[in-house]
Amino acid sequence: MTDRLTFATLGVNLMLIRAFWSMRQCPNGGNVGVPWRDMRILAMGAHPDDIEYGCGGTLLRAVDHGHDVFLMVLTDGGINVGIDRQTEQQNAADFLGAKELIWGGFPDTALTAGRELIDTIEQALKQTSPDLVLVNSPEDAHQDHRALASCATTACRYIKSVLFYHDYTSLSFAPDTFVDIQSYLEAKKQMLSCHASQVNKDYPTGLDLLESVTALAAYYGFMGKTKYAEGFRPLRHLLNL
Ligand SMILES: [Zn+2]
Repeated sequence: MTDRLTFATLGVNLMLIRAFWSMRQCPNGGNVGVPWRDMRILAMGAHPDDIEYGCGGTLLRAVDHGHDVFLMVLTDGGINVGIDRQTEQQNAADFLGAKELIWGGFPDTALTAGRELIDTIEQALKQTSPDLVLVNSPEDAHQDHRALASCATTACRYIKSVLFYHDYTSLSFAPDTFVDIQSYLEAKKQMLSCHASQVNKDYPTGLDLLESVTALAAYYGFMGKTKYAEGFRPLRHLLNL
């Protein structure tokens, strides 16, 4: 009789523990971490077109899966006289279905690592509360990309997941994290084409933007064991199963 009572009590206790545990994990994760669903993603780029080039397929996939995507572009790309790169960027944001496009307001080619840039990024983090940040890589030939990556590393010190993406001028980029964009490569190219001033430009290598994103997607697809992928290098990545 005593044994039966003991086992019955044990059974009730186990049920209570399981119920408590499931409440902790559902629906928003509470203090056990952010679930993969309903994520808030902030993608940052030094210039108009950086985000679309580096992680456009991932963002299209994220929007399709119901995540909220915010964009922040730190400079207006204004060195191209007579070209409205802000309108091009807004068209790309609309194509994506971004929740908001935030402008940093810094001058093109003169983005400087320091307090002002860190403050601007922190303001955007406060505004968007992202679970995941995607940003230019620190190893890059363009000084604006390097400045943004450096200040984002500081500003994002409490963000659980921060991934660097591969831009046109990235150097020594060795991704170990991949997102399958097989179903989104064509849409990515359409979104990138919103930046007509950049897509239709002649590049010294002879390889234009659309050709190069296709080549990268195939290479990173091969590395990521799928057909087409985007590659990322994590500063930090909380794997929340
Ligand atoms: Zn750029």
